[in-house]
Amino acid sequence: MVNVTTKIDDCVLEALSGPRVSVADKAMINCRADVNQILPFKYRWAWEKYLDGCNNNWMPTEISMQADLAMWKSKDGLTDAERRVIKHNLGFFAASESLIANNIILAIYRHLTNPECRQYLLRQAFEEAIHTHAFQYIVESLGLDEGELFNMYREVPSITAKAAWAIQHTYSVEDPNFKTGTIEADRAFLRDLVVFYVVIEGIWFYTGFVQILSLGRRNKMTGIAEQYQYILRDESVHLNFGIDVINQIKAECPWLWSEEFQEEILQMIRESAELEAAYGKDTMPTGFMGLSAELCDQYVHFIANRRCAQLGLPSVFPEVENPFPWMSEVMDLDKEKNFFETRVIEYQSGGSLTWED
Ligand code: MN
Ligand code: FE
Repeated sequence: MVNVTTKIDDCVLEALSGPRVSVADKAMINCRADVNQILPFKYRWAWEKYLDGCNNNWMPTEISMQADLAMWKSKDGLTDAERRVIKHNLGFFAASESLIANNIILAIYRHLTNPECRQYLLRQAFEEAIHTHAFQYIVESLGLDEGELFNMYREVPSITAKAAWAIQHTYSVEDPNFKTGTIEADRAFLRDLVVFYVVIEGIWFYTGFVQILSLGRRNKMTGIAEQYQYILRDESVHLNFGIDVINQIKAECPWLWSEEFQEEILQMIRESAELEAAYGKDTMPTGFMGLSAELCDQYVHFIANRRCAQLGLPSVFPEVENPFPWMSEVMDLDKEKNFFETRVIEYQSGGSLTWED
């Protein structure tokens, strides 16, 4: 016989009662059905992205940083312009990975009321921890000034401007008292998704990848470049999950996606490109082989237009060519096994991903 004296509150009993969950009860936001029943699936795409993530396990410490350390220490391994790009880039990413991880846990997870999407978010949160680990490992391996690097988002104006813009659009959603359920609040949640998935992970990260990977292509800082290749592979799934989430919410709640709100999202994407252009000028005042603020600006326009198309929105910029066509090749790790002539660890299904940049 069990002998339990705890009295169960009515609200607990109520939460555990009611019918079994059917697919029709499931919804992306404001769902009342039990969030503890992942089956039956309604959004198989979310489960598939969870599986994609699981097939991409990696650890930063598996990548040797010896060659990078030698190059960083040597007087003529890198130009001042290259050192500036590397430091600003690391500083921007290090802060962003943390902002993203916190937003997943403090905002997105709470308000995305679907178990298969939450399953993906748990995986994504772990991957963001791995990315933060990568920056810790790079700082430690190269003996970089950790205070300088981790404070760049507060101390370097062009990086602060990006962080401040992102936080301004999202901090209300991280407030523990924030609740979805009104048009205004649901739009605030959509804005949060756009800032984190479309702008930070989908636009700003891509110029960041270009900077480091273009150095890697010239055999400079190949350890960092390899870390970034793995991060890029993860991020492309994060981005596509975010796009699917936004499009699914649009389909379920079309009243949120008004003409006016679409214009607001387009304006946000335009502004994010402006901020990136200013950051590019600050980070690459002189430019160097194959890379300049102008080319990065063109790339931002190219990428921003693609993100608009993925959201079913018109282009925000005149159509331009991708100035870095090699980026799509870098994204396929299997094809590029010897790209950096460093050891690339093959994970079981690393090649099974289809890439979308
Ligand atoms: Mn990340
Ligand atoms: Fe991410």
